[in-house]
Amino acid sequence: MDHLPAITLITDPAFSRHDTGGGEHPEVAERVQVITDRLDQSPLAGTLNRLPSRAALRSQLLSFHTEAWLFRFEEAVLSGRTYIDHPDNQVCYDSYEIATLAAGAGLVGIDAVEQRSSNAVFSLTRPPGHHAEPNMPFGFCFFNNCVIAARYWQRQYGRQRVCVFDFDAHHGNGIQTAFEEDPSTAYISIHEHPSFSYPGTGWAEEHGIGAGKGTILNLPLPPGAGEREVLRLLPKIRIFLEKFQPDALVIAAGFDAHREDDMSGLAFSVDLYRKLGTFIMDLARNHTQGRVMSILEGGYHLDKLGLCVEAYLIGILENTK
Ligand SMILES: [Zn+2]
Repeated sequence: MDHLPAITLITDPAFSRHDTGGGEHPEVAERVQVITDRLDQSPLAGTLNRLPSRAALRSQLLSFHTEAWLFRFEEAVLSGRTYIDHPDNQVCYDSYEIATLAAGAGLVGIDAVEQRSSNAVFSLTRPPGHHAEPNMPFGFCFFNNCVIAARYWQRQYGRQRVCVFDFDAHHGNGIQTAFEEDPSTAYISIHEHPSFSYPGTGWAEEHGIGAGKGTILNLPLPPGAGEREVLRLLPKIRIFLEKFQPDALVIAAGFDAHREDDMSGLAFSVDLYRKLGTFIMDLARNHTQGRVMSILEGGYHLDKLGLCVEAYLIGILENTK
């Protein structure tokens, strides 16, 4: 497979310094490590081009977040707090710095896409981001990496219409908050139905508000749903994008819908992630001239997470030949 086109992987050893305290917290440094280990042993190993992250600038964080949240977050970690607002949001002294570096990984990824340095770009980053709200952390998330990336794509490169497609098991409430009144952005989310799952948003009836009406596509799935149910939704996504006409795609790539991941009741297979990779490259080819970049969100089953990410990247590469 050494003739396959390259994958650019943005990651940084510093991500392991966001310490969630040990114990029972599932969002651990080993998540990135097991993915890296798997990719190193994979047929993909020879195709990986690794780039370090860079810290997002304050102005870039402020494209979604409030000054008040930035001050509160930084002050909390420097004063030795162990969590912010809820024990889900565990922090350590370095967490502000590392969250800034995690947000920056998406920006490095977008630069790589725009420079056409490879066919697939994946930001292998933590802490995750899609639950983070403008003024508060939520669900292990502190800065909304996907929203900050989408705004960067618009502002730095003039890609005016940006869509985030989120296949994490949970609804990305923070992304919806960012985009629901904005006609220039769109959000598509496949997730476990809010009646059964955290965070309780993402009902099919939530379509967007005011000028943003029609730019949100929530596709909730019942517990136990897997490949058959997901494949049935894909034509709806094609139709939605046909109408929205994006210039760029950001993928909120979460892997906690795998059947063995305890964080959801969904039952995705490893091979479904391969199919999603292939589907996403189809979307990018048809709608955005290949401009697509993926950012890691959830995925907590340490034995399966590496396999899921590997399958997703294989799916992407199979469709870029
Ligand atoms: Zn999740």
